[in-house]
Amino acid sequence: MSQQTMEVHDHYIGGEFVAGAGEETFESENPASGETLGTFRRGTETDVERAVAAAEGAFEEWHDLSHIDRAEYLWEIYHELKERTEELGETVTKECGKEISEGKADVVEAAHMVEWAAGDARHPHGDVVPSEIPSKDAYMRRKPVGVVGCITPWNFPVAIPFWHMAVALVEGNTVVWKPAEQTPLCGQTIAELFESTGIPDGVFNMVQGYGDAGSEIVDAPAVDTVLFTGSAEVGHEIAGKVASRPGTTAACEMGGKNAVLVTDQADLDVAVHSAVMSSFKTTGQRCVSSERLIVHEDVYEEFKERFVELAESVAVGEPLDESTFMGPLIEQRQVERFHEYNALAREEGADVLVDRAELDAEEAPDDRGNWVGPFVYEIDYDDAGETRCIREEVFAPHVALMKYSGDIERGVEIQNDTPYGLAGAIISEDYRQINYFRDHAELGLAYGNLPCIGAEVQLPFGGVKKSGNGYPSAREVIEAVTERTAWTLNNSKDIEMAQGLSADITTDN
Ligand code: NAD
Repeated sequence: MSQQTMEVHDHYIGGEFVAGAGEETFESENPASGETLGTFRRGTETDVERAVAAAEGAFEEWHDLSHIDRAEYLWEIYHELKERTEELGETVTKECGKEISEGKADVVEAAHMVEWAAGDARHPHGDVVPSEIPSKDAYMRRKPVGVVGCITPWNFPVAIPFWHMAVALVEGNTVVWKPAEQTPLCGQTIAELFESTGIPDGVFNMVQGYGDAGSEIVDAPAVDTVLFTGSAEVGHEIAGKVASRPGTTAACEMGGKNAVLVTDQADLDVAVHSAVMSSFKTTGQRCVSSERLIVHEDVYEEFKERFVELAESVAVGEPLDESTFMGPLIEQRQVERFHEYNALAREEGADVLVDRAELDAEEAPDDRGNWVGPFVYEIDYDDAGETRCIREEVFAPHVALMKYSGDIERGVEIQNDTPYGLAGAIISEDYRQINYFRDHAELGLAYGNLPCIGAEVQLPFGGVKKSGNGYPSAREVIEAVTERTAWTLNNSKDIEMAQGLSADITTDN
């Protein structure tokens, strides 16, 4: 073992890297090769308590700075992210297995979020609103909530942490962040970026570890708001816990069972391209990845033939290689889940069209990687809601093709028949169909003639139904990390009330 892999990386608490209270460590593994990328401390209850206390202690001084002064620290990070995109992109790719253009895009997206947050420091931060009473000034003002707990997933290991933290910090909150256990090296890198800015001690804290450390952040009484991005199971548990604690809020972004709807009026070049991107980019491990392709009977056979041809040949391989389209799955547990759902689809009546789930030895670049290829099947849509494989998120290249007949209303009905409501796309050349989809699809992120993946920070990012609850991400995160004060000031010596309410004090005399 090299010197580098022997080093144990610490938590970052109160302005320094610290070993913390726990004895246990864990390793980060490259999912493409099994190579150990580093060893990390596993956070404990005590570590989280210390981090939360540090964040609480730093709040007043940080809050007293202007937005513009706070943003200066973020601008430094922005420049580092821009200058080091190549290097950091490689770290992302090595640690989470996304092909290299996606690794770099993760860092670029983080830079965009930091730019948005730091730039927003100079923009108006509230509203001046009219009052019914001419002598009153009325405003909406924002204040930071206090300590923000951030819990993030592995699949966007640089972008999502900044989606949570950049605006939270510029608005005057202090943070305690737990990176995903699969991507602690990206966590370490981000902590080093913060340290290099000289941000005041305790403003940014990071505790490495597993779900138990995340749970301690949720349970910490001094945490005012929890931002969570990850699976629906964990997100709903967090939302439930926080709901029972008055004064604490949670904003949770979760998974989906997303669909691409290909209508009878679709351009099939656009449809096939969009479907392949939606289903196989990031090896199906985006929250917005599509595991359902709902295709009109008039175009079904041609679409199927063309989609299957690409699914058979899409390049799976070493993610640092620029010619790769799909890297490995994140971990062995996820490979097992993929195989379980593929078996379930067969049990539920799927007719399998592409089965590259177990790659041939010559296709898999390294026998220690978590390699899989596309698994595509056709299955009848079931109105009764009993077919699990078309309703539950697998988070892998597991794709159901479903044929529908009739009009756009039927296509949208099938699109909506899932407890999730994150992302979806319609492929059609008919604006009436597109507008029907826009108005009736139960989605937070809707796309027309595009894949259902891809986000920009200046748009809201989030889902409806089981997929989302508040926005911990992108531009809307400001609502989760600030409290609004309605502030009314009387410029007169007389007290006059709105709605004609009498301000006279009458007495018995
Ligand atoms: P996950 O829910 O297993 O883990 C997410 C984070 O929560 C990790 O840091 C984990 O350690 C922590 N955690 C686990 N149990 C916890 C608990 N009981 N209390 C507090 N924290 C806990 O998700 P994952 O496997 O890392 O990511 C994949 C999931 O994330 C998929 O469902 C995907 O759709 C979803 N996702 C959603 C979005 C979005 O913006 N909607 C973005 C990316 C990923």
